[in-house]
Amino acid sequence: MSNLHIHPISAFSDNYIWCLHNQQLAVVVDPGDAGPVQRYLQQKGLQLAGILVTHHHPDHIAGINTLVEQWPGIPVWGPAREHIPARTQALQQGDRVQLPLGLELQVLDVPGHTLGHIAYFGTGADTGPVLFCGDTLFSSGCGRLFEGTPEQMFHSLGLFRRLPGETRVFCTHEYTLSNLKFAQAVEPDNRDIQQRKADVEQLRAGQLPSLPSTLALELKVNPFLRTDQADVIEAVSRNCGARPASEAQTFARLRAWKDHF
Ligand code: ZN
Ligand code: FE
Repeated sequence: MSNLHIHPISAFSDNYIWCLHNQQLAVVVDPGDAGPVQRYLQQKGLQLAGILVTHHHPDHIAGINTLVEQWPGIPVWGPAREHIPARTQALQQGDRVQLPLGLELQVLDVPGHTLGHIAYFGTGADTGPVLFCGDTLFSSGCGRLFEGTPEQMFHSLGLFRRLPGETRVFCTHEYTLSNLKFAQAVEPDNRDIQQRKADVEQLRAGQLPSLPSTLALELKVNPFLRTDQADVIEAVSRNCGARPASEAQTFARLRAWKDHF
């Protein structure tokens, strides 16, 4: 009934603030800057009905207070274990969020980038399965480990790996091309990575986002979701001169490799 749209609002140099709306009500995810959100809502004649937050970094929360001042009383859903301004609902693994747009989301605890980081997954009648993953998963990459351990992040990404392949993945940064350069260094013979790179170059040349991605695509091109693949294990072994003892260790070494890439 609701005909739900999901639109990227660009902010800063490479952030996306995803806006879910039904032509009347809107919910935004991780509004790091209020200005672009206010302009978009005004342009489209939308009324803000809620804010979803994945983690506490300023580029994801700095616009919240201004938006709440303009739209007093709206729900602000955010991680229970982090400090989120104006938060009205403190969420953790297993909690459910009923958006005023006919979409129910479930909360996943995904520590790693930050310790209290959460993600939102749901399946809408007209959206199919959708994942709002904040800075945990990027297209062809994953978030830096600012607070958590590699083991935590490996486990968090494991939760995503089990979601349906057709899940659309709404990442919060346009890092895809630089991530693909690393992915190619890890797997130079991976045809899917080559194809994705060509596709993204074309999208970016037309100033279009490379997102959302899908989980099925990420499983083919994202080295951080491919730590069980022989080619990735080989590459990591060559890069650090020893074979990793476990898949979690393959992930840890891959993440460390990318940090210095
Ligand atoms: Zn972040
Ligand atoms: Fe960020």
